[in-house]
Amino acid sequence: MPRGDAALRQTLAQQQAILEGLQVGVGFFVDRQPVWVNPQWEALFQRSGDEVRRLGTAVYFQAPEDWSAFGGRAYPALARGEVVTEELQLRRADGTLFWCRVRGSAVDRADPLRGVVWIFEDVTDRRLAADAMQRYQAHLEHLAHTDPLTGLPNRQYLHATLDLDAAAAAAGGHALALLFIDLDRFKIVNDTLGHALGDQLLCAVAQRLRGCLDAGGSGGHCIARLGGDEFTVLCRLEGRAAVETVARRLIAALAEPFVVDGYELTVTASIGICRCPHDGAQPAELLMRADTAMYRAKERGRNNFQFYEPGMGRQAERVHLLERELRHALKRHQLELHYQPKVELASGRASSVEALIRWQHPTLGAVSPAEFIPIAEEVGAIVPIGEWALREACSQLARWRALGCDCSVAVNLSSRQFRQPDLAGAIMRTIDEAGVPCELVELEITEGVLMEDTDGTIAALKLLAGRGIRIAVDDFGMGYSSLSYLRRFPVHVLKIDRCFVADIGRPGGDATIARTIIAMAHALNLQVVAEGVETAAQADFLRQHGCETAQGHFFGMPLPARETTALLLRQARR
Ligand code: C2E
Ligand code: MG
Ligand code: MG
Repeated sequence: MPRGDAALRQTLAQQQAILEGLQVGVGFFVDRQPVWVNPQWEALFQRSGDEVRRLGTAVYFQAPEDWSAFGGRAYPALARGEVVTEELQLRRADGTLFWCRVRGSAVDRADPLRGVVWIFEDVTDRRLAADAMQRYQAHLEHLAHTDPLTGLPNRQYLHATLDLDAAAAAAGGHALALLFIDLDRFKIVNDTLGHALGDQLLCAVAQRLRGCLDAGGSGGHCIARLGGDEFTVLCRLEGRAAVETVARRLIAALAEPFVVDGYELTVTASIGICRCPHDGAQPAELLMRADTAMYRAKERGRNNFQFYEPGMGRQAERVHLLERELRHALKRHQLELHYQPKVELASGRASSVEALIRWQHPTLGAVSPAEFIPIAEEVGAIVPIGEWALREACSQLARWRALGCDCSVAVNLSSRQFRQPDLAGAIMRTIDEAGVPCELVELEITEGVLMEDTDGTIAALKLLAGRGIRIAVDDFGMGYSSLSYLRRFPVHVLKIDRCFVADIGRPGGDATIARTIIAMAHALNLQVVAEGVETAAQADFLRQHGCETAQGHFFGMPLPARETTALLLRQARR
């Protein structure tokens, strides 16, 4: 053998040793057919070299089309001088499938049919690991977008959805509605029954809401929990009426009491609604506006829904501002009491005055009690403010008595103050400290007080009445207390709400209600005060119908203490 042949053979043997030693299947193909494969190829497909050559490679594929499709991709690419790389799922002789990374390069790029080296590598383990990783990733993603308590989508998910849906709505010309749901007084459940029970209630609420929406009619929806007792519903709906229907159904769905851990709990919700693109198109803006509308629903007595309206935001800002400022109002001496006379209609004498609070803020100016008292009630500031008002009114009464003025004083009491554990005791101590007789102090409560927590209220009122303190029901006729209901409470006076007084003598107005209240109050042995008397004709009418006392601009505006003192002194000298 010539020297050159021996060298060539040695080179070939070396190459074969390398190819056979590789951890991958290597095959040499001519005219798309295998002419040589290494032992790893044989092991990979569980076929001998002979079988490989006889059967070709179509048997590796799950379907003949897959095989021809692969050839159709690979050979033109090889002809372009490219290295073909693909991951394919292939079949072994025993039928099992495995993932194979396939790499092919042509020996002669001008004509790939003359020879291609194919390298087949089993990458099943790596693929499985990648799949597991992907599933794990998906799981993490799910966690990041899910509220762990209720299993509902969370705030992040809502933001992402809102982003996509708002853009799609803008592009597609359709409408979206975002409903912001906040449970009413949920904090009380949490505080009194504990967080574990609160959590159970939230889950039950989530389930109810979901069930209600799944029942259809919401035009496709996404319900999410933002945290705490806040939920949102995003739905694709055209027109206000359709959105209203969904809001009503959500409120109705919660109406049925929940039974949690043996407790029967009644839950109501306030819902704020914002529409896209009607009210905005930016996700953050939409959420904020729905939230603002929800606050309005709370202000309107809860358990209702409100649509966002421009200007609501400004109002909400004002509420927040007053909330903040109220905390300092007392210690910064911004509060003052004014007094409005209550006049005996028979004699024209001011036998009593009602203490009405005034807030003079250094930059906001005078803030009306009609505006800030409800806010003070909401944030609890009314408790110290109410205590201050009673103390102030009682010490003023003591000063008037020292001056020889003969009158009594009426102080307004908020329903919120009745939640104080020892309200009656605290009131009596304040009156005693001022050194005035209890008989000269009248407390004005609203009908709402009589409706809430009746047993505790009756007990407190009985204690007070037992000491001779007079109880008046303010703004009577606006609430729901029937006159017979009043029998259960130690009440001495009814104050006819000024809207019924305004009806007296007004064209088209109806004086019947005022007349009826007077007659029925007398039948129950109660005195009557008419509020908001503005004209002589109203005063005459009330006098004729037996109303004892009247209060209103016709008889006198609420005045600061100094001016009230002057008025009472003039009266004392007469
Ligand atoms: P209220 O107790 O029903 O007081 C009567 C309101 O009617 C007062 O409004 C008074 O200024 C107004 N008024 C009196 N005469 C007339 C009239 O002839 N025509 C009209 N249109 N209005 C008249 P004000 O002072 O704005 O107080 C509003 C409400 O704020 C009070 O209604 C009361 O509920 C509450 N409030 C005032 N001071 C206190 C307080 O110290 N504690 C509590 N809890 N509430 C207070
Ligand atoms: Mg009053
Ligand atoms: Mg009133």
